[in-house]
Amino acid sequence: MIILGFESSCDETGVAAVCTERGLLSHALHTQVAMHADFGGVVPELASRDHIRRVLPLAREVLAEAGLTLDDVGAVAYTAGPGLAGALLVGASFAQSLAWARGLPAIPIHHLEGHLLSPLLAQPAPAFPFIALLVSGGHTQLMRVDGVGRYELLGETLDDAAGEAFDKTAKLLGLGYPGGPALAALANHGDASRHSLPRPMLHSGNLDFSFSGLKTAVLTRLKTAREQGGDTPALAADLAAATQDAIVDVLVAKAAQALKRTGLKRIVVAGGVGANLKLRERLALALRPLKAEAFFPPLSLCTDNGAMIAFAAAQRVNAGLFDPKAPQATEHAFSVRPRWDLAEISA
Ligand code: ATP
Ligand code: MG
Ligand code: FE
Repeated sequence: MIILGFESSCDETGVAAVCTERGLLSHALHTQVAMHADFGGVVPELASRDHIRRVLPLAREVLAEAGLTLDDVGAVAYTAGPGLAGALLVGASFAQSLAWARGLPAIPIHHLEGHLLSPLLAQPAPAFPFIALLVSGGHTQLMRVDGVGRYELLGETLDDAAGEAFDKTAKLLGLGYPGGPALAALANHGDASRHSLPRPMLHSGNLDFSFSGLKTAVLTRLKTAREQGGDTPALAADLAAATQDAIVDVLVAKAAQALKRTGLKRIVVAGGVGANLKLRERLALALRPLKAEAFFPPLSLCTDNGAMIAFAAAQRVNAGLFDPKAPQATEHAFSVRPRWDLAEISA
């Protein structure tokens, strides 16, 4: 069965066609990054309006690229939350309308489940069970994943997400939005050893994180440097490298602890920060003595995209968690859940 999936939770409009037997057929993405850059962050109203403009052309593109017509589509999937309410509603209304008009089932998908299962799009794909390190702009979580829909939260951030820490520090350093890729690029020219930044909760004895103190530490250093006239491009590069090192250190250490505690030998990394090459490199090193293996989604599918939503829907159908033939409940047809804990979704 072919599933047409839609993602619109934040500032990316993503559409994809996934076959439950053959996997990803095609996907298309429009990122609003340039549009929001002037504002230093996502403007929700602009995001919603742009999703409206993009969703139909992207859907046409995806069908054409896969050589499909609407007659071939067996189900529609969409991100039902969490995310920006207005942005979510665009994708949900479009998908639900399409489903209703074509008499197709509509499959609501939790955005984090999309991220979480996206490493299964990699070749080779990891087998269950595994640890998932979910590191995105809004979340930092370690989870035990025993199967599709079987997620146990082991630890999470108590304040800022890892991606948020990248973004906020990048802003302090005068880099563009989103800050993660810009900070990582600048870090390549810096020397991390010139600044020892805190590793929050490294020895907390649990699998929780805290990143909000990091930006304060960077701010303090910047202020001191400014007062002493030492606010140079070299300082920014050194602080970028030190920030990246501090975030990566904590993520890798806690990921290794999660593997040790559970005795599992596979870990997947999902979400935008999973695109960070330093994280990939350092995690690989840390896993060697544990004889564990890391899996990542393809680089282009780390940040938000439609492929992960259509793919998660296909996994749910294949696991028997969504029956496309069952009568559809219509009372929630146009509702989205801007706040939605992954622990609440049923297996
Ligand atoms: P959520 O999924 O939690 O709702 P989101 O969808 O905004 O949040 P993603 O799209 O998964 O998050 O990821 C975006 C985040 O990833 C941003 O914070 C961005 O700075 C960060 N990011 C992207 N590429 C890199 C990179 N190479 N290094 C570090 N961070 C990165
Ligand atoms: Mg985004
Ligand atoms: Fe996301």
